Amino acid sequence: MRLFESKTAQMTEQTQTVHTPFSDLGLRGSVCRGVAEAGYEQPTEIQAQIIPPILAGKDVLGQARTGTGKTAAFGLPLLHMGDPKIPSQALILVPTRELAMQVDSEIKKLGRYTPIRSQPIYGGQRLSSQIGEFEKKQPNLIVGTPGRVMDLHNRGVLSYANIKRVVLDEVDRMLDIGFREDIRKILGGVKRPAQFVFVSATITEEIETLSRKYMDDPVKIVTSEGALTVRQVDQKYISVAPWDKRALLLHLLKHEEPDLTLVFCRTKDTVDRLAQHLGKHGIEVHSLHGDMPQSKRNSIVRKLRSGHLSVVVASDLAARGLDVSGISHVINYDLPEDPEVYIHRIGRTARAGQSGVAWSFVSADQGKLLTAIELLANIEIAELDYPDFTPGPIPEDKRAEMRKEPLPDDTPNSRASGPEAVWEKNEDNIDPEKFPGGVVPSGPPKRRLGGRMKTRRGR
Ligand code: ADP
Ligand code: MG
Repeated sequence: MRLFESKTAQMTEQTQTVHTPFSDLGLRGSVCRGVAEAGYEQPTEIQAQIIPPILAGKDVLGQARTGTGKTAAFGLPLLHMGDPKIPSQALILVPTRELAMQVDSEIKKLGRYTPIRSQPIYGGQRLSSQIGEFEKKQPNLIVGTPGRVMDLHNRGVLSYANIKRVVLDEVDRMLDIGFREDIRKILGGVKRPAQFVFVSATITEEIETLSRKYMDDPVKIVTSEGALTVRQVDQKYISVAPWDKRALLLHLLKHEEPDLTLVFCRTKDTVDRLAQHLGKHGIEVHSLHGDMPQSKRNSIVRKLRSGHLSVVVASDLAARGLDVSGISHVINYDLPEDPEVYIHRIGRTARAGQSGVAWSFVSADQGKLLTAIELLANIEIAELDYPDFTPGPIPEDKRAEMRKEPLPDDTPNSRASGPEAVWEKNEDNIDPEKFPGGVVPSGPPKRRLGGRMKTRRGR
């Protein structure tokens, strides 16, 4: 079976656009020229809806799914309203270094003909050179991560005195517990009145409540109901035992030769070990996670952009908000604990109307998690059979574990082939291909195994 052939057929829904030209949104000529040169023909829905209230000076809370051009949605008005004579007049806060660079470069691209200077500031880069550049350039717009922004502020390099506008990109992350205190400190230092624009792909009630504390009668914009869906991504899950995941991934990468694949793992450790394993088996692979030196991270993102990589194994933190076109496949090697993270991950593919495939490795105990993801994403994720792959034997330590420690009775088995689903069916209807290695279970799971399906693997 050639999985990769299906990828174009599925893509019907395109990035939603509305038929208003950029020039009708009230943006100045120089900004519109930059937009035209970037090749954007029409504003996306979020851009069309959010730009007018931002230009009117309102506080705005905007939600639109990943890949819908939220950067330009706040970047264009900042360029339009910018005053070249005022340094540090607007602050755009983002959660990661990569995103700081990306947002800055998008603003520079769109602002080519507009005399507004933008500069990214983020940790990991030598402080002295960043300060030197900052003082020389006196940027009007600052795109920064909270830590480095506070650092430059505390050193007296970055003054908040002129800040008139603050953007929180990926606001759900920025007001999440990890950054909440930093944001409180930074925003607390900004003189009022100031304009606040917060955007994200997902905004929970809690985040909205927190956001409103900073905002004055904000306009809330939610583009398309169920904005959490990333529908043009062809999503599938593959049932796999934890100990078979490496082999399955290697198999998929070798047999299917995807273009550009982003593989997500939960921890930095897994990222490193998996990348090493793939490398040893002849796959050209790079890893991307928060503990890597910044120069290395930058070089990988650069290579990713120029299309010089084929497989990147990443942690969530490093890949958040990353906009790289041409990612054909996202593989969730580890399913994320938080369903929202799933949405962010798969949003790395199918950018700006392109097609994309997302596969998730799901082990027997992750059925509930997969269901939670489906509920949030408002989509049914079908199982992908992969009969070409032969699972390995159950490792001895796992077998011993299974003998010793029966799982609780209600432990779900593989989702689609859970005990009830299978045993209610007539034997003749059972598709042997549904079972890894072609082994069709021949009876209900034994009680002594606590409901865990017995297989003949490894005998
Ligand atoms: P988001 O922040 O919503 O995830 P980005 O701002 O990263 O999305 O934009 C996703 C991609 O869409 C980028 O490559 C960007 O250059 C492109 N893009 C943005 N606006 C438009 C537009 N109006 N027309 C075409 N492409 C666009
Ligand atoms: Mg974004």
